[in-house]
Amino acid sequence: MRRNPGRYKVEYLTTNRQIDKLEEQIREFSPRAVVVLDEDKADELGKRAPGTTVLTGKDALVQAAAAKEVDTLVGALVGFAGLAPTIEAIKQGKRICIANKESLVVAGEILTTLAHESGSEIIPIDSEHSAIAQCLVGEELSSIKRIILTASGGPFRTRAKETFADITVEDALKHPNWVMGQKITIDSATLMNKGLEVIEAKWLFNLPLSKVDVVVHPGSIVHSFVEFVDGSVKAQLGAPDMRLPIQYALEYPRRLAQEYDLLDLLQTRPLEFHAPDTEKFPALRLAREAGEKGGLYPCVLNAANEIAVELFLDRRIGFTDIPSLVETALQSAPEDFAAHLLCGSSEDIAYSLARIFEADAWARTFTRERAAALSAATV
Ligand code: MG
Repeated sequence: MRRNPGRYKVEYLTTNRQIDKLEEQIREFSPRAVVVLDEDKADELGKRAPGTTVLTGKDALVQAAAAKEVDTLVGALVGFAGLAPTIEAIKQGKRICIANKESLVVAGEILTTLAHESGSEIIPIDSEHSAIAQCLVGEELSSIKRIILTASGGPFRTRAKETFADITVEDALKHPNWVMGQKITIDSATLMNKGLEVIEAKWLFNLPLSKVDVVVHPGSIVHSFVEFVDGSVKAQLGAPDMRLPIQYALEYPRRLAQEYDLLDLLQTRPLEFHAPDTEKFPALRLAREAGEKGGLYPCVLNAANEIAVELFLDRRIGFTDIPSLVETALQSAPEDFAAHLLCGSSEDIAYSLARIFEADAWARTFTRERAAALSAATV
């Protein structure tokens, strides 16, 4: 937006706690109002930026997402918290530029059903899915043989599995190619991020999981592939810079000229591809299994992972405990969690959403208790 002054109007900005950055953005973009989820931080910002409407609370987040002045929502909240505002914006028929993959993982069928009804377009910001969307312009769904998501492999791709128990928070936060928030950086290190992206792709592109593959590509230059029924393969390449997929989602299907970080093919290292190692990185297998089971299993996968990542970042559990806790939650989930989520009517959707919120709460409590039991056993 900074590089294209006058092209967009920022109506609302939201944050959980990062009010220093938000204060700078208020000065630069003069939004109609801002939402700060944390109440104390909201008070503090209100004092620092008089004249700005500062709202707080989850309801304010939903109101901002659904506000009539807004035609495009950039959904970049982290985790399950993004679900409620995304749903409201979809109901209003807005364009959703979605970075919040967890919403699609837990409620993909509901989101896509509602979008179909309201005419809302869900355009991916996730770089792999943006690549696929770009490869699919002008193509038909029936022409797709499979899509192949690329994965960087994270910082531990070549590290010996025997040493995984010694991985520290600092080690896991060093991503080789992308600069991102903490949660997604840990997810990239466990490869859970790629597992979530497999489920995300299923909903965005209306494909069975059997047509979504993953290949490890350490350079992060090829952002993903589409293989077609005639054997042709398309890929989208670019420097690893999130500004491109964000801009593409805002402008889709147009392209806007930019000069930053052009890909220099003559300076690019040879492109390498490897099969993912699910022995070393069980999260990828767990995500696929949860996606195949369907129902509330992807929700359990996501919630258990969100809690496990939080506990790891708090140094309460080890790196290898993350997939173990997720696996235990999936194995311990009540059997009726596998029931298909109904989306036929608005009553069905309301009921299914209530079940998603219940399953999310169940998996969070279960994972916290299981982690507490683990650390009590080791002390
Ligand atoms: Mg991605």
